[in-house]
Amino acid sequence: MPRLHCFLFLATFLCFAGVFVAGDGEADPLYKDCVEQCKKSGCVGNRCFQHCKFSSDGKPIDGPWYTNEPLYLRWKQWDCQTDCRYYCMQSREEERIKLGDKPIKYHGKWPFRRVYGIQEPVAVALSALNLAMQFHGWVSFFILVYYKLPLRPDKKTYYEYTGLWHIYGILSMNSWFWSAIFHSRDVELTEKLDHSSAVALLGFSLLLAILRAFNVRDEAARVMVTAPLIAFVTTHILYLNFYKLDHGLQMKVCMLIVFTHLLIWAIWACISKHPAQWKVWLVVVGGNLAMLFEVYEFPPYMGYVDSHALWHATTIPITYLWWSFVRDDAEFRTSTLLKKVR
Ligand SMILES: [Zn+2]
Repeated sequence: MPRLHCFLFLATFLCFAGVFVAGDGEADPLYKDCVEQCKKSGCVGNRCFQHCKFSSDGKPIDGPWYTNEPLYLRWKQWDCQTDCRYYCMQSREEERIKLGDKPIKYHGKWPFRRVYGIQEPVAVALSALNLAMQFHGWVSFFILVYYKLPLRPDKKTYYEYTGLWHIYGILSMNSWFWSAIFHSRDVELTEKLDHSSAVALLGFSLLLAILRAFNVRDEAARVMVTAPLIAFVTTHILYLNFYKLDHGLQMKVCMLIVFTHLLIWAIWACISKHPAQWKVWLVVVGGNLAMLFEVYEFPPYMGYVDSHALWHATTIPITYLWWSFVRDDAEFRTSTLLKKVR
């Protein structure tokens, strides 16, 4: 890669300066009043909620236990408070729009419109597409290394990173699965699962970047790199799940990992003579631009498409390109090794 491009790239990194901060809707007195009223009356405007017929200890106010809510709704934790908060938020936002105000966050989330009870339908659909894309990439890699490329006499692949890419494929599919669940309904459990699997994937991607970019093939050296990284990611996951689900910290840790990860691949793409280095280059630039959606967030358009959903959209072509690079790398390494053998 020409030097100029490298500098241009590093300049884009400097764009990560400020974060757009939105006001807190839950502090709005009109919203607070609405929720308090709703909990007592069970209604917002003309709309009344089934859930509010149950007293706070879960026992129905009128009627026997079997008129209780269906189990799946209770698992989703749809109760009086959730409904009151949702409809108060919607009515508050309608009023604000009429006054020409911009949307604000409520309890840390943008005012999304539910579709069939799914909180963020666009993000769910895009997470599912990402999952499908990862699956496609992983399967095509599997077919390439085991059926198309020659194998060693012991039936192992010549490519030294096969196992690592398998783990990467599984971790990414796992992460997109929980992302889809989390965006359909966010409760503490789904949020923890989503955040934990995302951090596990990012940590592993960083590990893979270090091992592949620096050509670490020696077993002992691999352990030296892997051990501290796994220790760090595990500690962070335990902290999130059992001590404090700290969003600020999670964001910082993720950004730090993604930043380092992209930087390693960027430097590698600048100096290596790999035939598919341009794909890495595109992934790095694309990944960087995609990160801007996470940093400079904006509220959902029409109540559906926000910056986070767009971020999930950009990762689809990036994923395709990334697995295409992985396949090229497997072919390239295999042919290099075979030339050495002959
Ligand atoms: Zn997401």
